[in-house]
Amino acid sequence: MSHSDSPKRIAIIGAGMTGLSCALELAKKSNGSATQITVFEKDEYLGGLSSAYSWEDVSWDRYYHVVLSTDAPLQEFLKEIGVVDQLFWRETKTGFYGKGKLVSFSSTWDFIKFPFISLWGKFRLGLGIIRSSRISDPAKLDKIFVREWLTTMFGRRLYEQLWEPLLRSKLGAARERTSAAFIWATINRLFGARESGAQKEKMGHVRGGYKTILDAAERTLNGLGVELITQAKVVSVGSTANGKVVVAFDRTNQKDASTGQSAKVHEETFDEVIFTTPCQTILNTLDAHIKTNPHSYWENLGAVEYLAIACVFLVLRRPLSPYYVTNLLDKRLPFTGVIEATNIVAPAEVGGKHLVYLPKYMPGDDPALKWSDEKVLDEFISALKLVHPDLEDEDILHRNVFRELYVQPLQEVNYLQRLGGFVTPMPNVYVVNTSMIYNSTLNNNAAVNLGKQCAQEVASASSG
Ligand SMILES: Cc1cc2nc3c(=O)[nH]c(=O)nc-3n(C[C@H](O)[C@H](O)[C@H](O)COP(=O)(O)OP(=O)(O)OC[C@H]3O[C@@H](n4cnc5c(N)ncnc54)[C@H](O)[C@@H]3O)c2cc1C
Repeated sequence: MSHSDSPKRIAIIGAGMTGLSCALELAKKSNGSATQITVFEKDEYLGGLSSAYSWEDVSWDRYYHVVLSTDAPLQEFLKEIGVVDQLFWRETKTGFYGKGKLVSFSSTWDFIKFPFISLWGKFRLGLGIIRSSRISDPAKLDKIFVREWLTTMFGRRLYEQLWEPLLRSKLGAARERTSAAFIWATINRLFGARESGAQKEKMGHVRGGYKTILDAAERTLNGLGVELITQAKVVSVGSTANGKVVVAFDRTNQKDASTGQSAKVHEETFDEVIFTTPCQTILNTLDAHIKTNPHSYWENLGAVEYLAIACVFLVLRRPLSPYYVTNLLDKRLPFTGVIEATNIVAPAEVGGKHLVYLPKYMPGDDPALKWSDEKVLDEFISALKLVHPDLEDEDILHRNVFRELYVQPLQEVNYLQRLGGFVTPMPNVYVVNTSMIYNSTLNNNAAVNLGKQCAQEVASASSG
């Protein structure tokens, strides 16, 4: 508790799942004490990459999300905000498309029939996945290139036939720099979703999608006295002589009620500030401080490279396939996979329609990121028709493209060595973001877990 008369003030920058989880934990820890928590969010809505999007009677996640049965911290968060009873599980099927064929890869029989690899390849694949799932600490894998590790675990032929096309569609040229820890985490997360006996894949979603989760989080945080300020882009953060932290935020989207003019940049002073935004945003915001106080912590943050995303969202009047995910082994297809969300979400939840996402991960300087929406839609929908030749333009009721620059931190070799903690060299300033996920894929289970851990560290540092 603060020793001064005025309440202690903590700012959290970013209201994605990491920021919301961090805010919830801090609010719980400070319940009854005089701590005031403020969350700044640049967008007009909460959730960041997990935010919701609406078109007519369809309201679903801007990007697709599933919950896995192994997502314990996320399910705990859902419990705390009172929506865990809205979590539904569904057996899911996975497809593969290659050589003009779309096949199921969802059962032992599918595995036996799988046409893209030989019998020996299947044996090596099964064995490699079992061996991979037995590795509990990825630290050693951080030093090995993904190509080298996959070739050793699965053999050169299987690497070329299966892993290389999958890596290329997910990481592009960056696959050559990526460490084995990345693919180990992916295999483990997906393997964990399968029930061991039946080899069946089960995935979950909250009824109403992330909108239900975000609305409940907002209600819970409001109830705990947390101040959530949207349309407030933090533009700079600096220190005062007495160890406080000044947050300057831009509310130019809002008009001043009395003058009708655009509001100016505001400044507020806090005892502690927690960044949950991507690394580059943090460095831009702290530019003035870092110029006069250089430190390897900031250099390491600056070295984190993110993949960007352009994701086509389609609302269809009919289903495409029985598969939640269709993995692609065909180089002609410009996207990473086909995700048919309504193979998990009941179509009745989205007005009887069918939702399909076509994500393309790419480096931030990839020219495709700057393509017009029309070009992205034309290219992606034409390519989707290669996989589903019976798809007619009339089947597509709505189409849109979502883009984001900083999405998937790229786990390059020796990534772990550069990974910093929550405490930064700037007094009373903390960082927690997805670049700190190293033993899992980019997912909200890891994000809420990190947000909570950081809150606990901040709370114990303050009380100590
Ligand atoms: C295509 C796709 C599919 C996914 N699928 C799944 C899935 O199936 N399951 C799963 O669990 N996870 C999934 N995820 C991952 C999940 O969306 C992310 O883990 C999660 O959203 C990361 O949350 P975050 O809060 O760390 O970051 P973000 O969501 O990026 O939040 C950061 C927030 O900070 C705000 N911000 C940035 N700069 C400023 C500033 N200067 N001032 C104020 N605010 C600022 C942003 O607007 C944003 O709201 C998926 C992600 C994508 C892109």
